[in-house]
Amino acid sequence: MSQLRVRFAPSPTGYLHIGGARTALFNYLLARKERGCFVLRIEDTDVARSTEESVEAILRAMHWLGLSCDEGPYYQSQRFPLYRDKVQAMLASGGAYRCYCTAEELEAKRQLAEREKRKPKYDGTCRNRSEVPAGSPYVVRFHAPREGETCFNDRIKGTICFQNQELDDLILQRSDGTPTYNFVVVVDDAEMGINLVIRGDDHINNTPRQILLYRALGYAVPEFAHVPMILGADQKRLSKRHGATSVMAYRDLGYLPEAMVNYLVRLGWSHGDQEIFSMEELIEKFSLDQVGRSAGVFNPEKLLWLNSHYIKTGDPQRLGNLLRDYLAALGHRCDDGPEPAEVVKTLQDRCKTMVEMAEQAVYYYCQDVTFDSQAEAKFLTSAQQPVFSATLEQLGTLTDWTAEAVEEALSRVMQETGLKFGKIAQPLRVALTGNTVSPSICEVMAVMGRDRSLARIARAATRLA
Ligand code: GLU
Repeated sequence: MSQLRVRFAPSPTGYLHIGGARTALFNYLLARKERGCFVLRIEDTDVARSTEESVEAILRAMHWLGLSCDEGPYYQSQRFPLYRDKVQAMLASGGAYRCYCTAEELEAKRQLAEREKRKPKYDGTCRNRSEVPAGSPYVVRFHAPREGETCFNDRIKGTICFQNQELDDLILQRSDGTPTYNFVVVVDDAEMGINLVIRGDDHINNTPRQILLYRALGYAVPEFAHVPMILGADQKRLSKRHGATSVMAYRDLGYLPEAMVNYLVRLGWSHGDQEIFSMEELIEKFSLDQVGRSAGVFNPEKLLWLNSHYIKTGDPQRLGNLLRDYLAALGHRCDDGPEPAEVVKTLQDRCKTMVEMAEQAVYYYCQDVTFDSQAEAKFLTSAQQPVFSATLEQLGTLTDWTAEAVEEALSRVMQETGLKFGKIAQPLRVALTGNTVSPSICEVMAVMGRDRSLARIARAATRLA
């Protein structure tokens, strides 16, 4: 068996969207599992629509997801001489011909076909054209067979056949000399030794055309696996109406790449009832046999559920490093506050996204906490004076500043004031965090540190009204 060679071939005309990322992931997983080669090829022949920015955005998103390639990125824009040679070879062998039909002529024929309710298709006028209009612009067309059928055994969809008479004499090279997608994709997949093409099923109609081109060019035809589309909850093709479709938008919304990977793989692939998969497990278990034939429906709640799972179980050190960035996006620096990993430990059970975690972590890092007005009105009243005095006194005596030591100090405050823990904790929580909801205040104080905790309690004590 020869080595598996697969590829991801995005067109850089925008960001990496959910569907593209899933295609890339399936290719990556299979390559890793089979110890094959994952090639990345940037399909930037459409010079007008391709941008450097999109290339960067796609590479960044793949890097974020952890989908490293073994070869590439190759750029089609750097391979024009190869395509030109192949067009010349096709012309020389009679596999292609120059077509001088003007846009107006083609449009008139298209309209006629429409009136006569025929499928519009190039009629082959230039196939046997004898006199060549000197100096006129031309395109190069594929001399496609008109009889017979072209079938392929799709690894996901099963056998698919097309009647050759349905297919067109495809344009291989435009009048400006640039080659077209269907031609370059065949040349590149063949020249790069790709033996399995995994891509979205929006390309199924291109496949028979490409198979005919492989044959005309004398190349071996690869296997194909067409992955079903992703739909929104309304069964329509996933689009911005359904929420963010860019992979990196999810990073900005506070999603972890492992949640995204886990979510994407399950959109169309299953392994029993299992929902949670590490990348290593996916590499071991992924196979095209378990990819479904019908479209997957994008479910944002499930993605959020997976994200909260990975946040809960994530390594605090790593999440802490990420937290820095999310806090920076909110305008807060971590340098003169507690260690982010310690903050993560107090919040990871309570947050579904990193953005939520950053928002909740703000009180650890801001200079002066802002009090929620209702919380302040309810809990920072003069009736709390004894609690604040006793707390400041008890905490002031601590030499060891840990959650346990703080808890013991607060038990002494309970004894002294005769109040239950909740009655003490809530005003202190408002003093420390500005709000009525937070992790255990003993933990919050331990992480926040002695000086900042005492300063906050003292400051709140001066505001008791
Ligand atoms: N560049 C094509 C696209 O982005 C992919 C072509 C292919 O996978 O064959 O749709």
